[in-house]
Amino acid sequence: MSYKSDIEIAREAKKRPIQEIGDKLGIPTEHLLPYGHDKAKVSQDFINSVQSEEDGKLILVTAINPTPAGEGKTTTTVGLGDGLNRIGKNAMVCIREASLGPNFGMKGGAAGGGYAQVVPMEEMNLHFTGDFHAITSAHSLLSAMIDNHIYWGNELEIDERRVAWRRVVDMNDRALRDIVCSLGGVANGFPRQTGYDITVASEVMAILCLANDLQDLQKRLGDIIVAYTRERKAIYCRDIGADGAMTVLLKDAMQPNLVQTLENNPAFVHGGPFANIAHGCNSVIATKTALKLADYVVTEAGFGADLGAEKFMNIKCRKAGLAPSVVVLVATVRAMKMNGGVAKADLGAENVEAVEAGCDNLGRHIENLKSFGVPVVVAINHFVNDTDAEVAAVKDYVDGHGAEAIVSRHWELGSEGSADLATRVAEIADADVAAFAPIYPDDMPLFEKIETIAKRIYRADEVLADAKVRNQLRDWEEAGYGDLPVCMAKTQYSFSTDPSLRGAPTGHSVPVREVRLSAGAGFIVVVCGDIMTMPGLPRKPAALSIGLNAEGEIEGLF
Ligand code: ADP
Ligand code: MG
Repeated sequence: MSYKSDIEIAREAKKRPIQEIGDKLGIPTEHLLPYGHDKAKVSQDFINSVQSEEDGKLILVTAINPTPAGEGKTTTTVGLGDGLNRIGKNAMVCIREASLGPNFGMKGGAAGGGYAQVVPMEEMNLHFTGDFHAITSAHSLLSAMIDNHIYWGNELEIDERRVAWRRVVDMNDRALRDIVCSLGGVANGFPRQTGYDITVASEVMAILCLANDLQDLQKRLGDIIVAYTRERKAIYCRDIGADGAMTVLLKDAMQPNLVQTLENNPAFVHGGPFANIAHGCNSVIATKTALKLADYVVTEAGFGADLGAEKFMNIKCRKAGLAPSVVVLVATVRAMKMNGGVAKADLGAENVEAVEAGCDNLGRHIENLKSFGVPVVVAINHFVNDTDAEVAAVKDYVDGHGAEAIVSRHWELGSEGSADLATRVAEIADADVAAFAPIYPDDMPLFEKIETIAKRIYRADEVLADAKVRNQLRDWEEAGYGDLPVCMAKTQYSFSTDPSLRGAPTGHSVPVREVRLSAGAGFIVVVCGDIMTMPGLPRKPAALSIGLNAEGEIEGLF
């Protein structure tokens, strides 16, 4: 049997006009700002007007450590949202927007897959409603104003060697990682070394996703540290005077984007920060608005639960005052097999023993998630070749580890395949058994926060950091940044900092290479290992096979 590709399924979608989707949420037409027929922003006035409504239940979808076999968090998020609607609940989905650049490197979209997708998927993966272009523009304005300030006399005494603010573009372009700017003579300024990151790595992106409203947005933009003087005094975006104009550029981008699933249920797709040097969740404003409009809101955190869910809880929920009612942990039989030592090429053959051997990774994530005080349901995202015996092996393991596992076939069947999962998730959410709390308090010293995550989530024995890192953290504490949460940047493939260590490793240590202060976003980035903020293209980029067909449709993107 052959299956249709994601893009073929998406093209056959019977989309409803976006006003009808808004109707389901009670958004009056005058408060929907349409971008074509199938996308709309929700007006700030409307968002303000629903603030006194009661909040719905928040459901987080996260996953085991990713393997090349694929886990399907977004697919499961969308499938669960449709499943909840199918069983008669008023539910919606909140996911991240996609970065345009990486689509031209490796194939792969961010709109879900199979019969659990949001549409229009091509647009969502490309220019969409222009939010990322606005972020690139706001970021670039600040870059330009910093060099312009230096050019016109440098009144703030910025040390040109210590400009921390880099430039961004939404493209995988390794040639820009390290550059010298302002070459060409007196009229072009003072040459200095700098570089580009991809737009989703911009602190402006993290800020947009954590800001509560436009005022908060402007305050956080003003708080960005852009450079230091020779005496190491911090220079802020506010000192450069860019925060007001940046807020103007971001005004529309702050409004959540409404689209629909293949089953015509509402979805907000808004914001998309990196999941390593930032927190990797869709915007706070989208999540909070969704909670006012729907009884159940299903949202996703990036990477595996050791990174994505940890940051969702310790950064996003703490800062935004959110509390999940239940966590859905996505696992696949294929990923369990890979964790159990099976090579990707051999995943097709039944191997119950390998499934059992690989379940330790899942077990540790269950324990970790429960330590935040939230109930956990494992969703076995079913692949058509999974055998009953393999599925039973995962279920048995989960039963023995204080949770329950439910098979979901949303990829193959849409909401018909996810109704069981939805029923159970809704029951648990309605039972109000969660007692959510972040795993460290605001006032814990910064280094201890890092140790808490390393020991309790990664199960490492120790955190290794030289005096430079420890002193830097102490300096920030003295400067008043000690209350901030920490944002861990490590490999997503392992609990440890070694990507090849699958399963549930113990006895490892976590070396901290570097710490960075994102004063506007409001967290301290803790870099453990190589973190790439400007990806490159592979030898044969997907762009080589992307084009328009005779009907004007996009080919080769997914
Ligand atoms: P994540 O959000 O975890 O990165 P996605 O949900 O985006 O993962 O899925 C990644 C890819 O895997 C998509 O192309 C999707 O179509 C595919 N996929 C997800 N679930 C299944 C499944 N059950 N069967 C087959 N393919 C799947
Ligand atoms: Mg995803």
